[in-house]
Amino acid sequence: MSGLILEGKTGKWEVICGVEIHCQIISKSKIFSGASTHYGSDPNQNVAFIDAGMPGMLPSLNEECVHQAVKTGLGLNAKINKYSEFSRKNYFYADLPQGYQITQFRYPIVGEGTVTISLPDGSTKDIGIERMHIEQDAGKSIHDMAPDKSFIDLNRAGVGLMEIVTKPDFRAPEEVGAFLRKLRSILRYLETCDGNMDEGSMRCDVNVSVRKLGEEGFRTRCEMKNVNSVKFVMQAIENEARRHVEVYESGGEIVQETRKFDALSGQTKPMRKKEFAHDYRYFPEPDLLPLVLDDEYINRIKSEMVELPDAKMARYVKDLGLTPYDASVICENKEVAAFYEKAAKGHDAKKVANWLMGDFFAMLNEKKLELKDSPISAENLGRLVELVTTNVINGKTAKDVFALMAETGDNPEKIVEEKGLKQVTDTGAIEAVIDEVIAANPDNVAAYRAGKTALMGWFVGQVMKASKGKANPGMVNQLLSKKLV
Ligand code: MN
Repeated sequence: MSGLILEGKTGKWEVICGVEIHCQIISKSKIFSGASTHYGSDPNQNVAFIDAGMPGMLPSLNEECVHQAVKTGLGLNAKINKYSEFSRKNYFYADLPQGYQITQFRYPIVGEGTVTISLPDGSTKDIGIERMHIEQDAGKSIHDMAPDKSFIDLNRAGVGLMEIVTKPDFRAPEEVGAFLRKLRSILRYLETCDGNMDEGSMRCDVNVSVRKLGEEGFRTRCEMKNVNSVKFVMQAIENEARRHVEVYESGGEIVQETRKFDALSGQTKPMRKKEFAHDYRYFPEPDLLPLVLDDEYINRIKSEMVELPDAKMARYVKDLGLTPYDASVICENKEVAAFYEKAAKGHDAKKVANWLMGDFFAMLNEKKLELKDSPISAENLGRLVELVTTNVINGKTAKDVFALMAETGDNPEKIVEEKGLKQVTDTGAIEAVIDEVIAANPDNVAAYRAGKTALMGWFVGQVMKASKGKANPGMVNQLLSKKLV
């Protein structure tokens, strides 16, 4: 897919974008304390002394968070750095009681990697990962509990985060959308982050700039922090890019700053001047040793890796004959892929994919059901497809059987048996119906024989109707052509 090109008064503009994503690590306890990471506890219930910034408390690195970060790095096809170290990032804010965040700065645990995204036109694009480091989350300020007060909840303070930084490789909002969905999918396969943007366990900052088509180098970028849905991220990029074009074309300059995206207006507003690294007075964290990993540790994690979406997609295309796009849709969600594999087992895999992505998803949507609550089991979906493939029922009847399966949860054979829906493949029986239709419509028969062959479809329709939809359409066609000559 080509990128988003904005038509300005002075010519064509290209959109340049990179993202930084904070992902909460799935772990039972926080990254430097033993407090629970449970989401939804009452405020300030999961707070160890160090999370509250009590003097004299020392951090102790949670090995599970390191394990999760290495696993994630491997999932991003990235280099795992055997040496990394922690730094203090100093800033003052009410939800950061220590007065600094323990993070990684010069030496992150994960280096460069690649994530491949699939686009709706069937093409793919590689997005470069610049780095990934681990750090602690801050607490949460609550401003809407009282009109004249703010409250602080420290349950989140000290929860482990992985911050993933991409290269400025995006050229369209859709590419960023596809990347966020792909990243979320990888994290969920790995079970290292639950990827829920609306609960804040995956938070996206976007950097946007524009340049004249064909121009080299990058212009000044603006950053939008914590945009909390894929849809809003895409909207924010497009609107911010248009703003840049307008500013440049009216003779202005873009200043590097952090802006806030307002979901109601769809516009971005200035929040604060962009900070630079030196504003944070980074220095090595004196209370933690450098983190040193060996090959054995990394290889052990490698050996625990599950099949990731890309490998699964490639297998579906190669072994099951799916199109790359269909495979990417099914593989995005681990549970959907597992359901599909169960349904397709021993049946026509391509037909099962069509049913799954068509009628089946539409049924779940309409009933507002999650996959796990589906009235149609994977096995029954596969058996329905089998009934069509083996000509027990025709395609049209299958739609009716599917509707009954969704209603009752029964298996398709039982429904076909009880409702007498078996396809009529008895030549004699079909011929009898055809003879009736021919006898009842002498005018159309004459017209057909005089050359109006388009009437064939009408005859097929009449015969199917007379057989209550149960005749085999292929046989009807064949026998009709013979009889109408
Ligand atoms: Mn960060």
